[in-house]
Amino acid sequence: MRLVSLLLDRIYPPTCLACRAGVEEAGRLCPACWAAMPFIERPFCERLGLPFSQELGPGLISPAAEVNPPVFARARAVARYDGPARTLTRRLKYADRLDLAPAMGRWMARAGAELITEADLILPVPLHRGRLWRRRFNQAALLAHHVATHTGRPCEKGWLTRIKRTRPQVGLTREERADNLQGAFHLSPEAAGQIAGARLLLVDDVLTTGATLNACARALMKAGAARVDALTFARVVSGV
Ligand SMILES: [Zn+2]
Repeated sequence: MRLVSLLLDRIYPPTCLACRAGVEEAGRLCPACWAAMPFIERPFCERLGLPFSQELGPGLISPAAEVNPPVFARARAVARYDGPARTLTRRLKYADRLDLAPAMGRWMARAGAELITEADLILPVPLHRGRLWRRRFNQAALLAHHVATHTGRPCEKGWLTRIKRTRPQVGLTREERADNLQGAFHLSPEAAGQIAGARLLLVDDVLTTGATLNACARALMKAGAARVDALTFARVVSGV
């Protein structure tokens, strides 16, 4: 087996996940991409996970979370949606680079460790059936699968479904986004009975405004969930 892998490495030398540079081991970033990865670290807003530019004391909430409190309790992300993090997110979604998912899931398991420890169940943000058929896979479900594998937490892919075909959220205002997603998510009858009192972790690839995660969290809280947290690979950070 080791010989086969050595041979394969000779024929297809492992390359960086984000660029074409050679790396020693498959599933890694090269030193330059690693250095450019905009990882999100503390201090950040405890609710939204938005990085603060300076240490303001523990347990602090950002003004954005005070003005528009999210439906989910806490959000965490591996990195800002920028540089190699943006490249990885887009390749996974649009270029069928499913091989990126294990490494992305591994980083997510680390960034969301606090949330995962307290979660009873992981649920991916679902795609509408039509979109799933065109894209062939749901990147959120794939990431959720790897987060679950790394952490040993159960993951239920079919419990939350997207029943409304929504138009793309790009270019919509906050209110329009919320309207667009009204009634978009539905819980399967099987899930309905088991959500009550459960602490759930929603998984998606990228958090932009949080409208999608909020709409999912609303459906889950309505079904009696005790708490809903959100974990994404990347998140858009603007004007902090
Ligand atoms: Zn690289």
